[in-house]
Amino acid sequence: MNFVPPDTKRITEALGDITQLPRDMQMAVTNKLDESFQPVPKPHHGDWLKNHEEKGQTMKSFERTTYKAVPHATYKTIYIQPVGSFNHPRAAPLDVIIEFARVFFSGCEVELLPTIDFSKDMKYRENHGIQQYRTDGFYNYLSETRHKRDAKRELLCVAVTMADIYPDESWNFVYGQARAIDGVGVYSFARLDPLFPASPQTLLSSPLTDEHRVIMLRRCIKILLHELGHLFGLKHCIYYICLMNGANNEIEMDRQPLYLCPVCLRKLYSTLQFNVRNVYEKFINLCETYELEEERIWYRKRLDCIQDT
Ligand SMILES: [Zn+2]
Ligand SMILES: [Zn+2]
Repeated sequence: MNFVPPDTKRITEALGDITQLPRDMQMAVTNKLDESFQPVPKPHHGDWLKNHEEKGQTMKSFERTTYKAVPHATYKTIYIQPVGSFNHPRAAPLDVIIEFARVFFSGCEVELLPTIDFSKDMKYRENHGIQQYRTDGFYNYLSETRHKRDAKRELLCVAVTMADIYPDESWNFVYGQARAIDGVGVYSFARLDPLFPASPQTLLSSPLTDEHRVIMLRRCIKILLHELGHLFGLKHCIYYICLMNGANNEIEMDRQPLYLCPVCLRKLYSTLQFNVRNVYEKFINLCETYELEEERIWYRKRLDCIQDT
């Protein structure tokens, strides 16, 4: 694929007409962009944009997207269904991760369901000694158990697991996958551990260092927000370095930031109508509590850019 990074004109077109937006949002998507957002670098061998053709989703094409989550009235809960054990020292801290999702998808409720075991209907395979579960087993489970959840509240339901996952035989693995038409998805935190692919014995006997804790937390939040972003109708971003960039490997994933670029922010805003300053302020507080220092600094600086009139 021959990816050409978009120029300013193309980015402005993608953003669309912003004159009807509240002043804060106008500032958030236009003011001091050069200080806060980096251009997408030319893709290298093995990078997502080298292997996938991404045309970029403009605000207009986002508006035409049929299958996207749009909360209304009571219908605004994102259920998170843990599958398999999260009861070990290196498991993703789900309670912390969902706090970030609550702030990011402002106006939605995010609810953690009780953990379930893998069922015998969930197919798996061995890939280079790693047990991997096929994603459709999770989708089927979530669809079949919908009646057990509160249908009046359910906007989305996504499974999360510490096991590795794959969509079909032609893929080596995926970090996550979603079925927008059914409002379900499945995300794996297996590969986010810096010790991956260590054996379960090694993982169980290696408590997280502070450094690994922060790396893992950052990656877990990223996967959850990126993948839920897809269910809200956001496609992969080509306009800036952005949470919604596609990622083929850990290097690309670590390059994705925990924020949306102006184009993607504008899309999510059109659905959730949040107060952008409130969202950024709450995000700063969470980053401070959980020691995500890079992110805290970025959001602080960006908030100052928005307030600077
Ligand atoms: Zn993606
Ligand atoms: Zn973006």
